[in-house]
Amino acid sequence: MPVTIQQIISQVKKDDPKINTDIIRLAYDFAREAHNGQTRRRGEPYIQHCLQTALTLAEIKAEIDVIVAGLLHDIPEDTNLTLKDIEKNFGKKVAFLVEGITKVGKIKYRGVERYVESLKKMFIATAADIRVILIKFADRLHNLETLEALPPKKQLRIAQESMEIYVPIAGLLGIWYLKHKMENLCFKYLFPEEYKKLEFKYEFEKKLENEKFVERTTNFLTPKLKEENIEFEIKGRFKSLYSIFLKMQRKDRKFSEIYDVFALRVITENIADCYKIIGIIHSLWKPKSHRFKDYIAVPKPNGYRALHTTVFGPNGKITEFQVLTRKMYDESLFGIAAHWYYKDKSAQLKRQPRWIKDILDIMQQSQKGDEFVSAAKLGVFKNRIFVFTPKGDVFDLPEGATPIDFAYAVHTEIGNKCTGVLINDIMSPLNTELKSGDLVEVITSKARIKPGKDWLKLAKTQRARAKIKQALKEGQQGALRRLIGWK
Ligand code: MN
Repeated sequence: MPVTIQQIISQVKKDDPKINTDIIRLAYDFAREAHNGQTRRRGEPYIQHCLQTALTLAEIKAEIDVIVAGLLHDIPEDTNLTLKDIEKNFGKKVAFLVEGITKVGKIKYRGVERYVESLKKMFIATAADIRVILIKFADRLHNLETLEALPPKKQLRIAQESMEIYVPIAGLLGIWYLKHKMENLCFKYLFPEEYKKLEFKYEFEKKLENEKFVERTTNFLTPKLKEENIEFEIKGRFKSLYSIFLKMQRKDRKFSEIYDVFALRVITENIADCYKIIGIIHSLWKPKSHRFKDYIAVPKPNGYRALHTTVFGPNGKITEFQVLTRKMYDESLFGIAAHWYYKDKSAQLKRQPRWIKDILDIMQQSQKGDEFVSAAKLGVFKNRIFVFTPKGDVFDLPEGATPIDFAYAVHTEIGNKCTGVLINDIMSPLNTELKSGDLVEVITSKARIKPGKDWLKLAKTQRARAKIKQALKEGQQGALRRLIGWK
């Protein structure tokens, strides 16, 4: 279904009816003009990709600048217009975001599994801002949704890259909404047989049984909650296909043996109502013993909060209810994106890994003023760069590192025998400062016996300096030995 700009605007206004959305419309006109005449593989106008990306961002409640950057994200790479044009029309902040997306887009996954961790760090470091990551996820989601238009080899590469890099990062940031969508799509391309089988069963069970069950239970529960004047909304929550697949594998179970395929979610306004609702549920259906979990009093380590209970529900069917506030619900779906939307530091943030907290702090600071660009650097990976070997291995070096540091990071002998370097296929001086994403190839020669004397000045890492000193010393001793006739 083609997306319209009006849909995006309505989505934004849902959360804030009075918000001015003129800039979104301007960005749309700008992007449509820039991509005029371009089509995606399936033949649809290119602007659809921009609209889909922006709609996803609106759904996760991203702020207006992020949605604008989502509309403009492919302009510098794919059209005649430049980042300068974007900055002139939409300001520094939007241009900064678009620049980030362009940079992240250049990171290539070369299927080397042991470097996945470095790639993840590199992805985050290159993005330099959580908003860039959100846009990149939205962009990738639409690319995954339209993956069938690509040749099989490319499908597999993109699915694998997404599963190993994008999906885990989305999980770390708690953006489950995008994580589940992305991993289900990747699953389809990485395990097509298993996917097809499971999808059939899942759809069958979901459509024929659970949806009706959700509806009946909702109809039954609604008047009881209304009597108590509780504001609420009930939703069926279905486990993602990929999580079912993982659970079946982990526990060696059949699909029919997975019981928590769905739960009922009751979303309400405040915490007091959450407990009231649990009381009502327990008065209607007998709770299964020891199955009540209070993740509001004691949140899960990832910060998740809700009340869970399993009851012998309608028709004796064992049913899980999850009761939570609107804010908890948004946080459970949008993770870091929601924290930022609610703009507060709730107690649960303290439970996040250190680097996520750093990101959040930076986000909050950058909300305050125009120190945007400088504040937007991520504390954790600050001052690190990530460079590739021709084979696709990733090395993580300090900012300012030179090819000498890189050569010694790869191997001492590569360092000692280094005579030159190709950076992105261009012969470059050994004092060149490397940048994140550079592809570095060291040229070595057997004829070289020891490091250059000035290399100590070029080396920024401890490792390279120590190795150079050692090699120079040995070189001297060797020369001395040769001089006095020792071998
Ligand atoms: Mn794109």
